[in-house]
Amino acid sequence: MSEPWVYIKDLSEYVGKEVTIKGWLYNKRSSGKIHFLQLRDGTGTVQGVMVKQEVTEEDFQTVKNLWIEASLEVSGIVRADERAPSGFEITVTTLTVIDNPSEEYPIGKKEHGIDFLLDHRHLWLRSSRQHAILTIRERVIWSAREFLHTEGYLLVDSPILTGSIGEGASGLFELDYFEDKAYLAQTGQLYAEAAAAAFGKVYTFGPTFRAEKSKTRRHLTEFWMLEPEVAFYDHEDNMKLQEDLVCYIVSQVLLHCRKELELLERDTAMLERIVPPFYHISYDEAMNILHKLGSSTPYGDDFGGEDETLITNEFDKPVFVECYPKKVKAFYMKEHPDNPDLVLCDDLLAPEGYGEIIGGSQREDDYDKLLARIREEKLPEESYNWYLDLRRYGTFVHSGFGIGIERTVAWICGLNHIREAIPWPRTIYRITP
Ligand code: ATP
Repeated sequence: MSEPWVYIKDLSEYVGKEVTIKGWLYNKRSSGKIHFLQLRDGTGTVQGVMVKQEVTEEDFQTVKNLWIEASLEVSGIVRADERAPSGFEITVTTLTVIDNPSEEYPIGKKEHGIDFLLDHRHLWLRSSRQHAILTIRERVIWSAREFLHTEGYLLVDSPILTGSIGEGASGLFELDYFEDKAYLAQTGQLYAEAAAAAFGKVYTFGPTFRAEKSKTRRHLTEFWMLEPEVAFYDHEDNMKLQEDLVCYIVSQVLLHCRKELELLERDTAMLERIVPPFYHISYDEAMNILHKLGSSTPYGDDFGGEDETLITNEFDKPVFVECYPKKVKAFYMKEHPDNPDLVLCDDLLAPEGYGEIIGGSQREDDYDKLLARIREEKLPEESYNWYLDLRRYGTFVHSGFGIGIERTVAWICGLNHIREAIPWPRTIYRITP
């Protein structure tokens, strides 16, 4: 191979030159004397045009027998072509087959059921749709981390194997740990709180695990969560940070992922609206809205997915629902100063029916109140001893939140189910491939 090996995304730098592409055959069609090869290499797709008279007879015949997803090295001259989706085309000069499958690729042009596609997730990832979604996912993660890094946050990784539990025993995956038991982390928050006392502005980022048997389009058993925690931030500061972070993420996706959003047929006008200020309503106001809309969820309960969808349909931008009843929220949330039955918390609901993407709160910094809550919830006190130390030694106002990466990606991409927002979805029904 004498021509330089280049990636499809960089073809614009090689117009008029001969290059080599290493990749796979995404599709092909022929019109007697010309083969049109759709080639992909992970960075993009480009059409290779092979004209019978301009290549060896052997190469021309070889293409006739190629199956979709054959791996290839294709050399040719790069031409600018406005009609081509990528803006370029390659006039093929030579072709080397690395591997031609011995049978037809299982994912074809016909419609496949979702179970079939998920069973073939290892191959489904090669589709342009999955490419677009996972490119946007990468941008969501990158921009969130860039935002926090620029604002002076320190990434402090939290453990995945934990002895002490997160918010409560239900919903935890338990495993044998030598002579003992361990749990897969539900959240990195308690560790983030300790880190906030050490470093001020921190965040954790990693996979989290929930053993709840939720079968909704919003729940995975393994999902990625980014959890900022800030010393001396109160409930209001916390919501402002959430708003700024979400606006930054969306603006970066709009800036860098236009092609991907277009491929997904996402209505970007809805995303352009994602600028401050977001709406704020109280739990009580949310309940009133729901009851007016005919929901039967009783006052005092947490909202289900359908309730969240109803609420978000009333707003054209994300909406914060603030100050839920204490009894439906986690023990560590700070009691409302004006009403001991409520806590200083917020759920941020994404518009267009998507619902909760963030759960946040100011944390209870009063030692006695926190201990009382741990006892009320009948949590194993000894497991929380270290956590209580944070209130014993220099307690401080602090707040934080968790943003679910997959729910954010599903919303930004306009997906109707969360399972496509992660490369390898794990749900109660699926742990392979
Ligand atoms: P829900 O009530 O919707 O089940 P939650 O209140 O348990 O969510 P939190 O514990 O507050 O959620 O988690 C913070 C964020 O993590 C959520 O806002 C969401 O974006 C994400 N998240 C929580 N549970 C899941 C899940 N099972 N699958 C995917 N993302 C999740």
